[in-house]
Amino acid sequence: MVTFNDGLADTAPPATAVVETDVLIVGSGPAGASAALFLSTLGVSNTMITKYRWTANTPRAHITNQRTMEIFRDLGIEEQVLADATPHHLIGDTVFCTAIAGEEIGRILTWGNHPARHADYELASPSLNCDIPQTYLEPILVRNATMRGTQTRFSTEYLGHAQDADGVDVRVLDRFSGSEYTIRAKYLIAPTVRARRSPPTSTCPTRGRWTSPDR
Ligand SMILES: Cc1cc2nc3c(=O)[nH]c(=O)nc-3n(C[C@H](O)[C@H](O)[C@H](O)COP(=O)(O)OP(=O)(O)OC[C@H]3O[C@@H](n4cnc5c(N)ncnc54)[C@H](O)[C@@H]3O)c2cc1C
Repeated sequence: MVTFNDGLADTAPPATAVVETDVLIVGSGPAGASAALFLSTLGVSNTMITKYRWTANTPRAHITNQRTMEIFRDLGIEEQVLADATPHHLIGDTVFCTAIAGEEIGRILTWGNHPARHADYELASPSLNCDIPQTYLEPILVRNATMRGTQTRFSTEYLGHAQDADGVDVRVLDRFSGSEYTIRAKYLIAPTVRARRSPPTSTCPTRGRWTSPDR
């Protein structure tokens, strides 16, 4: 039976000063947002924080291989990705030229578009590779993760964490209000985190216990 979810439980204020989640994910890049989407698809409670107001502001990672597209298919988002991507058959020309509008020296067919290679790609998978820059992919991942249950917090910076036998206390800074708080999680996923070199500015009674990956 389908149960109507009015979202009230998801937005209820916490009963204590500590926010709790099963898995805390730091970062909404391809790694973090994929982790959030996987966990929410599997029904695992998770919270994703990211330092900035929105997702990537530069394209960066873009060529997306067949295995990744198969995973997107399993997650039910392959069509959304393809709708925003440059398709396989248009990503093949790697051009060598003197300038963007200058003389073309030569070009090679890449990413499986050369006729001698194309069949290998077609036979390897029902999903072909494509080109979707991070600026387009991240919103798809974040949107679907959040729709499926991820608590997503933008403008929220990881400051450090303290681990014990049962999990981690993660200190975070709400960069919108300037307030700090603790998230208690059973697991912490922090794929590509830039931690502060200097300690947090506001008063934290347990300062000094917090550790971060690159200190
Ligand atoms: C200039 C440039 C060009 C690139 N070009 C290519 C390319 O052509 N092809 C390619 O495949 N790859 C490219 N890359 C690499 C690609 O961008 C990375 O491999 C990819 O972004 C890694 O994904 P990620 O999710 O691990 O980390 P990121 O995408 O770096 O995401 C990190 C996330 O963590 C968040 N974060 C960081 N610190 C904190 C904190 N303290 N608190 C809270 N949140 C935090 C950030 O806001 C972000 O959401 C390029 C990278 C750069 C810099």
